[in-house]
Amino acid sequence: MIKLSGRLAGLEESVTLAITAKARALKAEGKDIIGFGAGEPDCDTPENIKEAAIKAIKDGQTKYTPVGGINELKDAVIGKFERDNRLQYSREEIIVSCGGKHSIFNLFQSILDHGDEVIIPAPYWVSYPVMVMLGGGVPRVVYTKESEGFRMSPEAFEAHISKRTKAVVINSPSNPTGAAYTAAELEKLADVAMRHKLLIVSDEIYEKLTYDGLASSSIASVDDEVKKNTMVLNGVSKAYSMTGWRIGYAAGPKEIVKAMTNIQSQSTSNPTSISQWAAVEALNGPQEAVGVMTKEFEKRRNAMVDGLNAIPGVSSIRPQGAFYVFANISGTLGRRVDGKTINGSVDMANYLLDSAGIAVVPGEPFGDDSFIRLSYATSMKNVVDGVRRIGEAVGELK
Ligand SMILES: *Cc1c(COP(=O)(O)O)cnc(C)c1O
Repeated sequence: MIKLSGRLAGLEESVTLAITAKARALKAEGKDIIGFGAGEPDCDTPENIKEAAIKAIKDGQTKYTPVGGINELKDAVIGKFERDNRLQYSREEIIVSCGGKHSIFNLFQSILDHGDEVIIPAPYWVSYPVMVMLGGGVPRVVYTKESEGFRMSPEAFEAHISKRTKAVVINSPSNPTGAAYTAAELEKLADVAMRHKLLIVSDEIYEKLTYDGLASSSIASVDDEVKKNTMVLNGVSKAYSMTGWRIGYAAGPKEIVKAMTNIQSQSTSNPTSISQWAAVEALNGPQEAVGVMTKEFEKRRNAMVDGLNAIPGVSSIRPQGAFYVFANISGTLGRRVDGKTINGSVDMANYLLDSAGIAVVPGEPFGDDSFIRLSYATSMKNVVDGVRRIGEAVGELK
């Protein structure tokens, strides 16, 4: 047998995949399963975007494109940053990748040397620490508290900085907590990052999905110095329900963008030509669908949070963005059913799936074992019925 690379030491199969696979198997057997695991919007990609892709195929836009994206899409991205964030970029400060995840991966490959540290607030998106490790870096996790809205304080941030710290990840609104920073909070975090000469890695993929009238702001818009030291990561997956099209983009210092483009040129080459034209339409075309989706998500979020808070032992703060609720189950831990004890989030996820047919994602891989993640990117009926079934199942625990 060939021995696998030592670089893969930190790389495990995600716990979430095991539960998702189990839910799928139960569904295939004809069981009534309500899925709260979705990491993508449940609506279809808007028609105008699909038409743009069909037109691209018919027009013969089916060949290699420039590695970092066609100029038309770079210009659409530049227009988006001007419109939404009042940020000015030039084409060489923009790269289009095969999904937002790919941009982040290429970024860590570009900036990290062996042993460089990256600060990651927890609960975090499961891929950040792994991507840092695959880049040779070391994740430095800063645990945040539910009572502080899952937001990292400037003091906690600063306390985790060492001589080897190279970058900090800010994901607002956040997956899995839905927490979003205000402009004033971002300014304070940026101040710490600038004093310690760190690169800010700002993952703004959920920027359009905010609630209660909150406008999400980009940390890069704090001032010019911050902009020069920030890579903004974004994409069309979440805002336009385009997860399968694989288009993400990044904006920031042109030296880093050049390095990311070189990596892309030696690995994936350009993102799909057809998807790029669809993304041009997503960014330049009518934006109404985003507002419709957000309004619907806000209603479901409210129903889910209110329903969960009515269950003894379960609670949730009201997230400001994304489409996830990160529910606190610490009040149920240690309780028993049928001779089994619920000791953590994986036990709870398995219990809810087996006893109530509800698929949720355990909080453990996100860095907190006292929580479960529920996505409300599913119908209102599923939200209402599913939360009721969770309540009944939790009520069985003694
Ligand atoms: C979904 C997601 C992304 C990017 O998704 P792509 O489909 O690769 O564009 C990036 N960050 C977070 C936190 C996400 O949840």
